[in-house]
Amino acid sequence: MKIGFIGLGNMGAPMAKNLVAAGHDVTGHDIHAPMPDGVVAAISAAGAAKDADVVITMLPNGAILRAVADELIPAMKQGAVLCDCSTVDVESARAVADQAAKAGVLAIDAPVSGGIGGAAAGTLTFMAGGSDEAFAIVKPLFDVMGQKAVHCGASGAGQAAKICNNMILGVTMIATCEAFALADKLGLDRQKMFDVVSTSSGYSWTMNAYCPAPGVGPQSPADNAYKPGFAAELMLKDLRLSQQAAEAADADTPMGHLAALLYETFVESEGGKGMDFSAMLPRFEKRHRG
Ligand code: NAD
Repeated sequence: MKIGFIGLGNMGAPMAKNLVAAGHDVTGHDIHAPMPDGVVAAISAAGAAKDADVVITMLPNGAILRAVADELIPAMKQGAVLCDCSTVDVESARAVADQAAKAGVLAIDAPVSGGIGGAAAGTLTFMAGGSDEAFAIVKPLFDVMGQKAVHCGASGAGQAAKICNNMILGVTMIATCEAFALADKLGLDRQKMFDVVSTSSGYSWTMNAYCPAPGVGPQSPADNAYKPGFAAELMLKDLRLSQQAAEAADADTPMGHLAALLYETFVESEGGKGMDFSAMLPRFEKRHRG
């Protein structure tokens, strides 16, 4: 397939690489990041989109997605699919899908889970919202970049699933970090803590696959001085999206609310900006109760 790929950052670059390795013809555009090997550079988003069967976007947030979609959609072929894999608010996903439909372009929101490790290994989970027709066209690409694609419903349903998943992720990372900090104070060796929890009822993706303690568990951003990975400010973005959605839907999410407040303080005044979201562990190590 001819693919346009917009946003080749931490996630987009390895996803695009896997598409190239599977024999697809990928043209990319990013305002800062270099093109990975095998991806042809276009000087604009529209340039990457004009001949594409599918255009994939992997961008920081909904405002940027909407701005890029304004440029992309008029440049796309009729019947081509705009597949947004970024994590954005449900309203932006639906607005882009409406705009695409008016221009004769199919749209699907397909945010991902699995982090940069999953993006590199081609083992992401895609959660998709859009028509059966759009899902069927993009499914072979999901199969290259991921191990699972769930068609969650109409436009916006993928983002709804993602926001709920990441609320669990944020809460769980905080719980994992505070448990390590407590274990330290109780004199428990971190490797022993990992060996127990990773095979006990406290196990989780944040403990088993993305352990926030350096030198413990599989390789993770903690082993690379907490360089992202998944940046704390992106976690904060997702937690805010969950709280915005909870407010709009009148859902009670007290743990999600507290996680959003903790990440907000971490990013805005405790040195978390530019760090991986697992750097909550050194933050808890330093914390003194007031
Ligand atoms: P990133 O900041 O590394 O990549 C985003 C890229 O978009 C950057 O290279 C940036 O230069 C580019 N960009 C920004 N504005 C642009 C524009 N107008 N035109 C073209 N390119 C533009 O972020 P990331 O970690 O790759 O995350 C991307 C999306 O995936 C986010 O929505 C994030 O929430 C989501 N996500 C990230 C992870 C993760 O582990 N990093 C996991 C799941 C989902």
